[in-house]
Amino acid sequence: MIKGEPKMVVLTKKTLRDIDVSGKRVIVRVDFNVPLDKDRNVVDDTRLKGAIPTVRYLLEQEAHPILMSHLGRPKGQVVESLRMAPVGKRFEELISYPMLTLKQCIGLQVKEAIEQNPDKIILIENLRFHPGERENLPDFAKMLAELGEVYVNDAFGTSHRAHASTVGITAYLPSVMGFLMEKELLTLGSLLEEPERPFVVVLGGNKVSDKLGVIDSFIEVADVVLTGGGMCFTLLESMGLETGNSIVEEDQIQPISATLKKARKKGVRIMVPSDLVVADRFDKNANHKVVAAENIPPDWMGLDIGPVTIEKYCSIIKEAKTVFWNGPMGVFEWPAFANGTKRIAECIAEAPGLTVVGGGDSDAAIKQYRLEDKIDFISTGGGAAMRLLEGKKLPAVEALDEK
Ligand code: ADP
Ligand code: MG
Repeated sequence: MIKGEPKMVVLTKKTLRDIDVSGKRVIVRVDFNVPLDKDRNVVDDTRLKGAIPTVRYLLEQEAHPILMSHLGRPKGQVVESLRMAPVGKRFEELISYPMLTLKQCIGLQVKEAIEQNPDKIILIENLRFHPGERENLPDFAKMLAELGEVYVNDAFGTSHRAHASTVGITAYLPSVMGFLMEKELLTLGSLLEEPERPFVVVLGGNKVSDKLGVIDSFIEVADVVLTGGGMCFTLLESMGLETGNSIVEEDQIQPISATLKKARKKGVRIMVPSDLVVADRFDKNANHKVVAAENIPPDWMGLDIGPVTIEKYCSIIKEAKTVFWNGPMGVFEWPAFANGTKRIAECIAEAPGLTVVGGGDSDAAIKQYRLEDKIDFISTGGGAAMRLLEGKKLPAVEALDEK
């Protein structure tokens, strides 16, 4: 059921290459939801860079690109600090092409500005200033659609949300996917379809309940699943170990046991840490020490994987032809508990096979250790990537035109 699905979607849906856009006004839903610092400078422009191939192609075709995105969580009203202007400025620098960022996203003035500036890339105002965006109101979707003649969705990061700019608008315009969306779907989809073997999945992060869907999905295709982070303590509990004060989701012990059993039947190895860095409290400056996984003291909690586990996991990652990583191996925000995440990230960066990373915090870790150039593909969509890897449908992709 899961096998083959994501790639199939890409093959059946129209992409930018399947339609004629020359001379047309093309509305592109991009994912410009980027972090800003307190002076409103863009801190991480990966998502802006990701949109460049689609926008460049439109310019080459002499189409007029009209870009739209949300930024932050303004909750349906104008929030001055969440205007698109600084994002537009950064994108203009990156693409080296004149841009005009508007202070509204719908209405007559927007239409006029578009008509009067055919030589500029247009970026309309933050879509979430209007409640109609998240509520997917037809009137709002229609007003967005009126700005152009063709709709391109290149915002993989919001493709798991059915909003006016991702789903509603497709009712009114020819609707296709852009190149970033296509690449995300193909790369992530290939993990579930025909990964080169051995295929090693590395999973961490804080909650097992967030990850159970992907574990279930990956045991259909992976050879080994290496676990760490907070989520591995529920696994350790389900194996009968005492995990002290580590984070454990009691209600997940039963489902994870069932998953482990299924994995055993399929011959997939799900590995848990053999040693851990434990702390006497959840604090940056907590006392800490390395213990074997079966010796976690009752009042202590595991906050990172230990050195023996790191070595073992790295030797497996080195042999992999495909590696997917989601979720830090420990509380990497605190230096005392960052070693596991850093070392595993380095091993993945050095791995000779195809390496793919998904998830906001994992992405942040890769960048913190300056390894982004050594990873083959870093997904721009945390939640959307996980949804796709669970084998679930993405509403914004479903809404696009069939070939
Ligand atoms: P991603 O965003 O990459 O999908 P998650 O959001 O699932 O990752 O998890 C990241 C968070 O998990 C980090 O904030 C990290 O501090 C936390 N975490 C990792 N290991 C532990 C642990 N042992 N105990 C508590 N929290 C942890
Ligand atoms: Mg996260």
